[in-house]
Amino acid sequence: MTDATALYIDGGWVEPEERHRLDVIDPSTEESCATISLGGQRDTDAAVAAARRAFASFSQSTKADRLDLLAAILDRYKARSQEIAEAISLEMGAPIDLSMSSQMPAGSSHLKNFIRALEGIDFEAPLNGAGKPGRVHLEPVGVCALITPWNWPMNQVTLKVGAAIAAGCTMVLKPSEIAPLSSMVFAEVMHEAGVPAGVFNLVNGDGAGVGSQLSSHPDVDMVSFTGSTRAGRAITKAGAETIKRVALELGGKGANILFDDADDTAVRRGVAHCMENTGQSCNAPTRMLVQNGRYDAVVEEAGALAAATSTGPAREAGEHIGPLVSAAQYDKVQSLIETGLREGARLVAGGPGRPEGTNRGYFVRPTVFADVTNDMTIAQKEIFGPVLSILRFETEADAIRIANDTPYGLTDYVQTQDPDRARRVARALRAGMVVINGGSRGSGAPFGGMKQSGNGREGGRYGIEEFLEVKSIGGWPG
Ligand code: NAD
Repeated sequence: MTDATALYIDGGWVEPEERHRLDVIDPSTEESCATISLGGQRDTDAAVAAARRAFASFSQSTKADRLDLLAAILDRYKARSQEIAEAISLEMGAPIDLSMSSQMPAGSSHLKNFIRALEGIDFEAPLNGAGKPGRVHLEPVGVCALITPWNWPMNQVTLKVGAAIAAGCTMVLKPSEIAPLSSMVFAEVMHEAGVPAGVFNLVNGDGAGVGSQLSSHPDVDMVSFTGSTRAGRAITKAGAETIKRVALELGGKGANILFDDADDTAVRRGVAHCMENTGQSCNAPTRMLVQNGRYDAVVEEAGALAAATSTGPAREAGEHIGPLVSAAQYDKVQSLIETGLREGARLVAGGPGRPEGTNRGYFVRPTVFADVTNDMTIAQKEIFGPVLSILRFETEADAIRIANDTPYGLTDYVQTQDPDRARRVARALRAGMVVINGGSRGSGAPFGGMKQSGNGREGGRYGIEEFLEVKSIGGWPG
């Protein structure tokens, strides 16, 4: 078992002021794989004070300084990539091939995109062109609390840390207490890259402790949060007292609309994306809306694909999906599968319990329900497991209505060969992101949602802007 009890504050690893320990559980084995500290108020205060002191100079750093720093962070991140991928697999159960091909590289890709975006930002510019009155300056928002979840640990940490560094902010990162190990390697990456003391701090802790201490801290200017809508609501309330900027990336219940003219790989693509990361992605296409003409064939194909999806331990190479992250998540997914059955959805693949031959680890059976109606719990609640709900629709208007009939609005998907329809539907969907026929949204594309999926945008230029204040100046001398 690894001892990972130190916190990274003011440029060095320190033991917490009080001794509260938490075991990190390997979800493939249900055994403890490391012990961390849960920080307390004094640790939070020390980290925020360090970040406040560092802000005085880091906020004055030049764009060139920060470009160099981001390049050094990227360099060290790549150097530690194997270790980072292994930590992710251990702490949250992503199979090692997924960690190496997607989880870990998400971090380097975001850092690269921030470097490219930062190069193009003018921090000081005339408002209406040279010689005209008025200027606009972009300045770092201040000390930022970065609170992240366990499902794509390095993706979310780099989206926040990279943008905050690019903007000239200082920060305290509180990674998920369930998956803190990759973030601890990341703190070493920051140290090795020469990030000045106090600019980046890491305090492990839980939501009720360090999470709420940070979001109510009078010396924190902004909270950037990714996680559940429940916690997003609590953080917004806690931050309101001191009028913090609160950027939220929350859950989703993505609709994947398959019209009769969808291409032949659409079902395979949709099922694979729903099951990827064992369904623990906020942008997973978990509601497959299928037009009448293809409905029966799609249900059959999706069921067969789920039945052919194997599960296995995170450390094993291969295309399988891993366990869910925790006992709590396992219980939640089991209970929602039971609810689906009780409410009358038709089970096409998977179902309750562990996959055959498995009695250890938080493994669940890749599950497909058909004949789901949008008022059922499994169509409304984010399950965060490998569970696909298939719904039937007749017309384009039906599909749009059903897709938008959710409290969430993160990512929706459209499958059609008709370009006019693709454009119409993409415009009508109330979601922060829409993907047509599996197309790329482009590097540095803004990631974020509408409605109860949140209010922030991460990645690339939009992500950096979240961490900037806009200062308007008149009478600027020559
Ligand atoms: P969670 O909200 O329980 O925890 C996320 C983080 O917030 C953790 O670090 C946790 O310690 C902290 N936290 C919890 N309660 C808090 C509070 N009251 N105050 C301050 N901090 C608090 O979520 P989770 O279980 O780790 O992650 C799963 C959820 O996150 C899912 O609902 C998922 O959809 C969502 N998510 C959204 C995105 C996105 O970008 N939109 C990405 C990943 C996950």
